[in-house]
Amino acid sequence: MSEVRHNWTKQEILDIYNKPFMELLYEAATVHRKNHDPNTVQVSTLLSIKTGGCPEDCGYCPQAARYHTNVEGNDLMSVSQVKAQALRAKTAGSSRVCMGAAWRNVKDGPEFDQVLEMVRTINKLDMEVCCTLGMITENQAHRLAEAGLYAYNHNLDTSEDYYKDVISTRAFKDRLDTIDNVRKSNVTVCSGGIIGMGEALEDRAGMLVALSTLDPQPESVPINALVAVEGTPMADLPPIPIWDMVRMVATTRIIMPETQVRLSAGRTQMSREGQAMCFFAGANSIFAGDKLLTTPNPDVNEDMAMFKLLGLNPQKAFTKVSQPQTVEAEDSQYAAKGEKPKWTRPGHTIDRNEAAKKKANLTE
Ligand code: SF4
Repeated sequence: MSEVRHNWTKQEILDIYNKPFMELLYEAATVHRKNHDPNTVQVSTLLSIKTGGCPEDCGYCPQAARYHTNVEGNDLMSVSQVKAQALRAKTAGSSRVCMGAAWRNVKDGPEFDQVLEMVRTINKLDMEVCCTLGMITENQAHRLAEAGLYAYNHNLDTSEDYYKDVISTRAFKDRLDTIDNVRKSNVTVCSGGIIGMGEALEDRAGMLVALSTLDPQPESVPINALVAVEGTPMADLPPIPIWDMVRMVATTRIIMPETQVRLSAGRTQMSREGQAMCFFAGANSIFAGDKLLTTPNPDVNEDMAMFKLLGLNPQKAFTKVSQPQTVEAEDSQYAAKGEKPKWTRPGHTIDRNEAAKKKANLTE
């Protein structure tokens, strides 16, 4: 196993990212082989349990209510709908279901109780359960842990410096606070970001500093390539070159040797050769299924054909961390507190977000 360091500097990370390509690939593949089975890739299915209508202004997101996109919103799915989808995902080879709700933060009440029931249901199917529900308090993290949640996803998105150019409705520190709340429970942390949002290389390195200096480092780090959706403030940004994606994956692998590095949004823009380079550079997790919340993703059959071609095997559930036990609602130690935490609302103006909002208002 490699030594896990929590004191990476931005310059050290930039030096790794900018190495000659073959040297970077070789070093990342070496670290990968020391810490993981290089022929095993974890497969997750992302399920949008509540779509659209989000009050936040994330500049990359088609689910923000203020932008005019083609996303059709829906209310929270029922537990039986989620169970049916989870069973389908399991049959198709997924070991994890990640449920996403377009909320700013979790509110105690009937909807959160319904999500807790979804977590119990999927854990009982012997699948890893992950949720991404926005900001949560420590008590809510404990309630999710009791229900049997395996992982909580809360992406840092980008560097602290560039965050102000992407989102104005919350601050970078709010993200760190939620991750800290998750860490106080026994739920594992999934946190990563997006490249291709117009950020500088220093911002990519800055995000990796923030993630790698967490102690412990996140168990899972998704690396997304921006999917530029019509109507969002970032609609006109060009796709990132595959070389940037491979460099980002390789750098993440080297500085977070034990973490599962996930190829997430943007895979439809990548060739099989490109994805194979990412697996060689240390990516060992993907999202499967033809939709990633609301943006397109390769279909399961295509992915399984790629696995066959590359000799990859899907990772079994609970290979890295053992299965959490589900506590039934009536035996819960953590009652709803009805907390109303004051998350930050920086409220500064981001020109491209304002322009997209104005355009949306004009077309309504
Ligand atoms: S990324 Fe999440 S928080 Fe941001 S607008 Fe989209 S759904 Fe809302």
